[in-house]
Amino acid sequence: MPLPSKIICVGRNYADHAKELGNEVPQAPLIFMKPPSSVIADRDAIVLPRASQRVEYEGEIGIVVGMRAYRVDEREAATCIRGVVAVNDVTARDLQKTDGQWTRAKGFDTFCPLGVEGPAPKKLDELELVARVNGVERQRATARDMVFGIPQLIAYISGIMTLFPGDVIATGTPAGVGPLVPGDVVEVEVPGVSRVTNPVRADQ
Ligand code: ZN
Repeated sequence: MPLPSKIICVGRNYADHAKELGNEVPQAPLIFMKPPSSVIADRDAIVLPRASQRVEYEGEIGIVVGMRAYRVDEREAATCIRGVVAVNDVTARDLQKTDGQWTRAKGFDTFCPLGVEGPAPKKLDELELVARVNGVERQRATARDMVFGIPQLIAYISGIMTLFPGDVIATGTPAGVGPLVPGDVVEVEVPGVSRVTNPVRADQ
């Protein structure tokens, strides 16, 4: 699969996750980006960078854009969707706090595992998300739990920047994030649609 031209992520899009990190839910979508160079595939290793003492998984539902899209109306948003991928928005939580802005904390190589793209369901609200570490469930949510729904996100983001085919929108993570250590295996699944499983290792 060719790399997306950009990966646009949404912060604090589930109330329970905002709360677990001591944050308020934002008034408008809080967006940031991960670089295409952070993308890895199913089974590739997540490498823990030496610069961080605390790297965490964030299981997310990823929306893959199917067309060039700019200023898309919320009602038209679903027509821009080509598919859905499981995303792990891997984050150096300590660097996220100390840097203030998130490019480094979210941008290391291997910090964006993407599953194989599957079809989007007719009802986007029915998308589910499950994350497991070493086979133990840590996160579970549905798209209904999002603060800003998928059509709202597409309308908001495409009002700022042109979306290209293959671009990925990572729609935010629910409660249950936690640290990864070498030897862990972390899995993000959008049941029935996409899944990505990755071992974790130290930088050598
Ligand atoms: Zn995230």
